[in-house]
Amino acid sequence: MTEPSSTADILIIGGGMAGASAGYFMADEARVVLLERESQPGYHTTGRSAALFFENYGNATIRKLNKATRPFLENPPEGFAEAPLMTPRGAAAVATEALIGTLEAELAQSPSMERIEGKALFEIAPYLDPDRIVAGAYEAGAMDMDVHAILQGFLRGLRAKGGSVVTDAEVMGLSRADGVWTLETRAGMFSAPIVVNAAGAWCDMVGKMAGAAPIGLIPKRRTAFTFDATLRDGTTVDPSRWAMTDLCDESWYVRPEGGRMMGSPADEIPSPPTDAQPEIEDVALAIDRIQTDTLFTISRPHSTWAGLRSFVADKSPVAGFAPDADGFLWLAGQGGYGIQTSAGMGRFSAAMALGREIPADMAALGLTKAELAPDRPGLSRP
Ligand SMILES: Cc1cc2nc3c(=O)[nH]c(=O)nc-3n(C[C@H](O)[C@H](O)[C@H](O)COP(=O)(O)OP(=O)(O)OC[C@H]3O[C@@H](n4cnc5c(N)ncnc54)[C@H](O)[C@@H]3O)c2cc1C
Repeated sequence: MTEPSSTADILIIGGGMAGASAGYFMADEARVVLLERESQPGYHTTGRSAALFFENYGNATIRKLNKATRPFLENPPEGFAEAPLMTPRGAAAVATEALIGTLEAELAQSPSMERIEGKALFEIAPYLDPDRIVAGAYEAGAMDMDVHAILQGFLRGLRAKGGSVVTDAEVMGLSRADGVWTLETRAGMFSAPIVVNAAGAWCDMVGKMAGAAPIGLIPKRRTAFTFDATLRDGTTVDPSRWAMTDLCDESWYVRPEGGRMMGSPADEIPSPPTDAQPEIEDVALAIDRIQTDTLFTISRPHSTWAGLRSFVADKSPVAGFAPDADGFLWLAGQGGYGIQTSAGMGRFSAAMALGREIPADMAALGLTKAELAPDRPGLSRP
């Protein structure tokens, strides 16, 4: 076999938010090389998100990881970024009369959300149709995230700690001998005792190449688009101070973005791992739903895009060493929460890779290795 061109302590496959945040924390104590297939890190799901930090979003495990990430994003280390990574937004799950039961259930499991209705509701989101929407569950502390700055901060920090980022480096084969993985990539051969599988929608494919049993990851396409904030009376307004809202049955959401609005049908359409593209009928569906429950009139979308949110069966992420492939660490299944859980997941996976205990603040939140383990019962392996 050809000699590897580069050796490291840890090789990370994938330069999205998962790989970048893990690499940043692992590089404190290890020589890290991150391998990304595309010429730009963040090209896939990470570059296509809605960029919202919504602490009361996701299952109980996700909510612990949201909490564990917030302090880092609110107060990153000196030099991590030039501007704040998060800015106030506010977000509310809202309900029609028919959905009040769903809203009450949401409020019951989210004690930090407040019930709002009447004037208070239409002040934070004046675009909601008062003939349709009757109440909301409001998270005043929901924030916009600067996803580009967060990703670049992690990558810059990884390099500053002595690690490296190699782009155009698709991993095409993995083999292990004498306790060392050797990866064959388009940028040459790399070797290290530990490999981190942070390949997003491709994680099960990479796992297969390493001989690890699949975790049952299902990439699900989500569509998004931007539109002018034009109301039914024909006026176009600046929406930048309004809150994000979603219908509490998750059939649409909208939020201000760059002087316009962003909208989505909150779709979850199973897809093979691919460079996801929006389907015209999903955009049309979103426009129809949003026009039904809000005062917006949408003549045509500005930009449209789609990205893959990848889930395992119990919708919690997977972070831990494979039981059936030595030195192979899964870091997968971030679903629709991979930015708002980034620092927590990065610190957790670094602790696993380096053989440490769970960081104390995360253990204090009740997070356990078992709930993220790749061999937990909540996974439905194919
Ligand atoms: C429309 C939409 C809205 C969202 N909104 C939010 C939100 O508001 N808040 C939030 O927190 N999250 C949100 N998300 C989810 C979030 O974007 C993801 O959870 C996160 O980006 C996943 O990051 P990742 O690094 O796992 O995947 P990716 O960003 O896809 O990165 C994986 C990388 O691995 C690389 N790769 C794959 N195979 C190989 C290989 N063989 N060799 C080398 N490299 C490889 C890929 O090229 C890719 O760059 C949203 C997602 C979408 C689509």
